[in-house]
Amino acid sequence: VIIFGTRGVTGTVRRGEFHCPECGCRRPYAHKRVRRFFTLYFIPLIPLDKLSEYVECQRCRTSFKLEVLSFDPEADAAQLEDQFRQAVRQAMAAVAVADGHVERIELAAMRRVCAEVFQQELAEAELEEAIAEARAKGNGLGAWLRSLAPHLNDQGKELVIRAALAVATADGAIHERESTVIGTIAQALHVSQAHLRGLVAEVIDPEQTHEPGSI
Ligand SMILES: [Zn+2]
Repeated sequence: VIIFGTRGVTGTVRRGEFHCPECGCRRPYAHKRVRRFFTLYFIPLIPLDKLSEYVECQRCRTSFKLEVLSFDPEADAAQLEDQFRQAVRQAMAAVAVADGHVERIELAAMRRVCAEVFQQELAEAELEEAIAEARAKGNGLGAWLRSLAPHLNDQGKELVIRAALAVATADGAIHERESTVIGTIAQALHVSQAHLRGLVAEVIDPEQTHEPGSI
């Protein structure tokens, strides 16, 4: 009697380290693949179709879909911080270039904000780069910020606007073009007009806001 049949055989495709959602930290994993084999006398001889594939945490033994390997909260957090940093920088640079020429006092404001918010000095080259980028972006700033908006929380959005306001008020009053840029920033970040007015009122000396039609 020839005994033949099929059965699933689990093999390890590769091993590595991943962030296990169950353990909540980095753990060794095994990427497993179950393949159906043609068996003869219960010995798997010929590989047939692939049945399933999964990632198994070698500590808690939980299995996950393969997508778990691309989930890395530490890398994600670093990327988010980088995007936030860029948003702050670009918002400030856009205000600085709004009236065509960048004043030293505006650059100083950019440096001050970066030092306060990120606890990191903005290097001269980074400052120049941000200004050049703002000039190149021009009217594209809104669309660019809109793409970042979903990654920023309310606090982050407020900070971006406060940073822009700091540069706008560096030389005293907020000029019309600066005000337009700040309006664009607020709109792109889905910050309401009322919310924006509140933020502006905070930075403007109340005694200077008596002219009709002002905020
Ligand atoms: Zn685990």
